[in-house]
Amino acid sequence: MKDAQDPAHGFDPDTVRSKYLRERDKRLVEGRAAIRDLRTDRHFARYRRDPFTEYQDREALSDTVDVVIVGGGMAGVLAGAQLRKAGLRRIRIIDEAGGIGGTWYWNRYPGVMCDIESYTYLPMLEELDYVPKSRYAFGDEILAHFEAIAARYDLVEDALFHTRVDRSEWDEGSSRWIIRTDHGDTITARYLVMAVGILNLMKLPAIPGMELFRGRSFHTARWDYEYTGGDLHGGLNKLADKVVGVIGTGASAIQCIPHLAEASKRLFVFQRTPSAVGVRDNRPTDERFAEDLRPGWQRERMENFQAIMNGMPVESDLVDDGWTHHWGPALNHPRDPTWSDEEYGKRSEEFDFEVMEAHRRRVEETVEDAATADTLKPYYRYICKRPCFHDEYLPSFNAANVELIDCPAGIERVTENGLVVEGREFLLDCIVYATGFEAEFTPFYRRAGHEIVGRKSVRLADRWRDGPRTLFGMMSHGFPNMFIMPAPGQQAVVTTNHTLVTVEGAEHIGATVAGLEEKGIAAFEVSEEAEADWCEKILGAYVDSSPIMSLCTPSRLNFEGNPSSRPPLTGSYGGGFGDFFGFKRLLAEWRETGEFPGLRLEERPSRTR
Ligand code: NDP
Repeated sequence: MKDAQDPAHGFDPDTVRSKYLRERDKRLVEGRAAIRDLRTDRHFARYRRDPFTEYQDREALSDTVDVVIVGGGMAGVLAGAQLRKAGLRRIRIIDEAGGIGGTWYWNRYPGVMCDIESYTYLPMLEELDYVPKSRYAFGDEILAHFEAIAARYDLVEDALFHTRVDRSEWDEGSSRWIIRTDHGDTITARYLVMAVGILNLMKLPAIPGMELFRGRSFHTARWDYEYTGGDLHGGLNKLADKVVGVIGTGASAIQCIPHLAEASKRLFVFQRTPSAVGVRDNRPTDERFAEDLRPGWQRERMENFQAIMNGMPVESDLVDDGWTHHWGPALNHPRDPTWSDEEYGKRSEEFDFEVMEAHRRRVEETVEDAATADTLKPYYRYICKRPCFHDEYLPSFNAANVELIDCPAGIERVTENGLVVEGREFLLDCIVYATGFEAEFTPFYRRAGHEIVGRKSVRLADRWRDGPRTLFGMMSHGFPNMFIMPAPGQQAVVTTNHTLVTVEGAEHIGATVAGLEEKGIAAFEVSEEAEADWCEKILGAYVDSSPIMSLCTPSRLNFEGNPSSRPPLTGSYGGGFGDFFGFKRLLAEWRETGEFPGLRLEERPSRTR
């Protein structure tokens, strides 16, 4: 793929914009975002069952710990590690999964990997003295790494897996959280950390007739290897006589489609919107990579990446890939101080166009059949949709057994035997729903999936009905001793590499708890004033991006075509995706005071637990 910085290719804004709008309008159809709610749907709730670890009966538990962490994915493991460093002894992670890993526990579909560079995505590489095997890591290596961190900080033995938290409630009398689970457990904890994840709720579209299908069907986040054979590195040998349909062409789909194409008798790929699929260029880690690294290298690399995402000048681009070449400058185009706003907008749009042209050329150069290539070309601004990176996806469409089915308005219906698009029925043995997850902007209380009840029996879901109310996006008035790991739409900041803000959040929580313990504090609570000030900061910096995002083809980045529906309280510190570096500075300064400004502190009667 030629780079986007090539000379301009006759960019005519009016022609391009009207083409983009036509493509948008094909997809702006009523009901496109309708879903089957897997938490309550009687027919499809079974899709959530864990196919990877056997469920086991156990006795209900009743005990007291220092901290309960809801969620054992990246956020929970990193918070646990920092709380262990802060001196907490009894740390209990609770997760519905059968083990550590969160998204990497559940997503084991063939080809699963992370398209963010492994040396920045896998946290704590220095502490664990680990060097990833390749530039982009496969899911099994990432999962093993989180398991290794959990083992290092002794977080596994006390964890409760295959356990769903049903209710977390603050008990005023004991200044403790009481956590109840679906196993009948009652756990009492001094601190509560919500590390429930983003993109943690599998999304199944509501397509008429779905329950009629008599073949096999599953979601990519619960891959059915019993049916397909093989493992996450491929070899799906049981599909040799099967006709498979995959719904979706997002980041998960593009990773599993090459394996489905290789193994299935016939594969139909149902595409609603084409992804922009850039170069991945994976390669084994150079043997000398680790030799040149000095202490602190990983944080420096993560921050270098984030600086480019924020449009800040850097001495060198350490990651040097499609994210830094295209996504960063498309989101935050470097600005010459002499440019007017209009000039800046024009330059950004031109750059975006060049990036998309490069992606469209890549399709044309790779896919042999001209009609298929045309259908695979993405026509929208690069910033409209999460970009994808892969080198084997597009060539899959050159295989004789693979057919791309264009369905911009979605699948018409599901029948006993397959899928119908524009009146044509496709007979299938298996349907793979590569249909993603509820957006990361899904309110925290929904992602948490249980009732959280604070002081005076106030439900967090009620208090946050019009948007989050926090200090730093991590604590909330009325919910003492509770931390929430930073997430998009939650008044913290968003980092393209989610690991960075997670590391920052975990370190902040660890240091705060260490300080509170040192002072012998029984309970802290955010004052109403501090919370109101923070909300004011968020609202003051809020930038309404709907004028640009409403021109986009619908996606979860523009609230499925309705960007103005976003509540301003869901903004970030600094506006837009947020000012990570300002946020980091502010948290560090807050900690350095040693006074916990904005928190009301209640001391323990005696300094014993
Ligand atoms: P996505 O939401 O990105 O993709 C879902 C796909 O299903 C889209 O192509 C969507 O079309 C399609 N779809 C949804 N409903 C229908 C319908 N009714 N009819 C037809 N098609 C439909 O989900 P993914 O699981 O691919 O990815 C989710 C996120 O997970 C990513 O954006 C990323 O943040 C993360 N991820 C990260 C990876 C990494 O390498 N770092 C790898 C995989 C996932 P449309 O586009 O029109 O909505």
